[in-house]
This record gives sequence, C-alpha cells and structure tokens, in this order.
Amino acid sequence: MKSFDAIIGHKKIISHFEEAIKTGKVSHAYLLSGEDGSGKMMIAKAVAKALLCEHKDGCGECAACKSLPQKRLKCCAFRI
Ligand SMILES: [Zn+2]
Repeated sequence: MKSFDAIIGHKKIISHFEEAIKTGKVSHAYLLSGEDGSGKMMIAKAVAKALLCEHKDGCGECAACKSLPQKRLKCCAFRI
C-alpha cells in the first residue's frame, strides 16, 4: 500500500503533494491546519514517507520503505 492510499478524503492536498514530489518541486516547509483529528499528522507522515521512498510514492516495497519504521520519522519536524 502506498503512503497516500490509507488517507480517506483530502484528494486536493494529496494530489498537490504527489505532484510536488513527482516533479521535485517540494517546498522546504508546509503548514497543515485544521481541527483535531482531521488528518494533519497522517498526511505529514505520508508525505515524509513518500519523500524518503526510492520510488517517491511510499510504496512500502523498496529498501527505503522497508527500513523505515514509523519511529524513524522523528527525523522530520512535526509541530502541533
Ligand atoms: Zn518505497
């Protein structure tokens, strides 16, 4: 399962991130806002996973994905 597949809804923002990652035009920071439980952290982690993936989609199959348990995402700054 690719990193964005587990996210329900948020089609517009997921499409934005997929395109940015695919074209290599990723900003140095993103601000996700919304109510508690709206999926901000889930999206942030999916973006981080996709960026670190060898195929740039968080495939879950490549060496980078397999060596990336969730706790290693601490290298990324998630501020709430
Ligand atoms: Zn991968």
